[in-house]
Amino acid sequence: MLKGKTVIVTGAAKGIGKATALKFADEGANIVVNYRSTSPEELAKEIEAKGVSCLAYQADVSKFDEAEALVKAAVDKFGSVDVLVNNAGITKDTLIMRMSEDDFDAVINTNLKGTFNMVKHVSKVMLKQKSGTIVNMSSVVGLMGNVGQANYAASKAGVIGITHSAAKELAARGITCNAIAPGFIKTDMTDVLSDKVKDAMIEAIPLKRFGESEEVAELAVFLAKNRYITGQVIAIDGGMVMR
Ligand code: NAP
Repeated sequence: MLKGKTVIVTGAAKGIGKATALKFADEGANIVVNYRSTSPEELAKEIEAKGVSCLAYQADVSKFDEAEALVKAAVDKFGSVDVLVNNAGITKDTLIMRMSEDDFDAVINTNLKGTFNMVKHVSKVMLKQKSGTIVNMSSVVGLMGNVGQANYAASKAGVIGITHSAAKELAARGITCNAIAPGFIKTDMTDVLSDKVKDAMIEAIPLKRFGESEEVAELAVFLAKNRYITGQVIAIDGGMVMR
């Protein structure tokens, strides 16, 4: 079903994005690996070894023009964009009373505006095609907030708002848009936490472990394949948020 399709994964050089790019390649899709500073050279080789094509494209998704150029490069190379996974994200954690304006803006610009930029440019292509699917990476923190993450929580709650709106705007052309809300997943983003914090988190997770990037990647592929789920936020968090 995804064989020969074009998939853009933003921030794909490591972590959840990398696992997602590889999982879509396993399905036979051609992959556009967007990266900012981490080199995607090895990943591109790994993807091509699976018998599909890979375009590695450097772009800062928080920049409107760079996001547009990324989408154009994908269309120029592969002729379509069938799946967009908005994965690029950053954290700059601290308590609100200590949070600088720059730290707030940086997180909003990457996580929220970056998602808007990509959805905007890709939806133009998908509306013309009358097909496509978008998966936005939110977070359980966007659903429930977290101490020291006001900027991140606001950005990820905003991603859910964009997801609902895009799902409603694009549905008439058969385009779906969903969000994934991971809990704590083992990546560089969570590696920086102290052992004490990690232990406290594991205690709060009903399944008593962090998730794996591959588990999130499987969910992204599932959502991209399904044609009747849209406007949903799917938590993948070991049971942290039960609604
Ligand atoms: P990660 O290992 O830190 O990877 C994030 C990726 O995003 C990096 O490759 C980074 O590139 C890229 N990136 C950052 N800013 C970018 C920009 N402006 N333009 C393009 N790429 C950019 O993080 P992760 O844990 O895999 O997280 C992936 C996504 O899942 C994020 O949206 C994150 O918020 C979300 N998430 C993660 C968890 C978790 O527990 N890990 C939980 C919930 C949600 P560089 O390496 O070049 O900086």
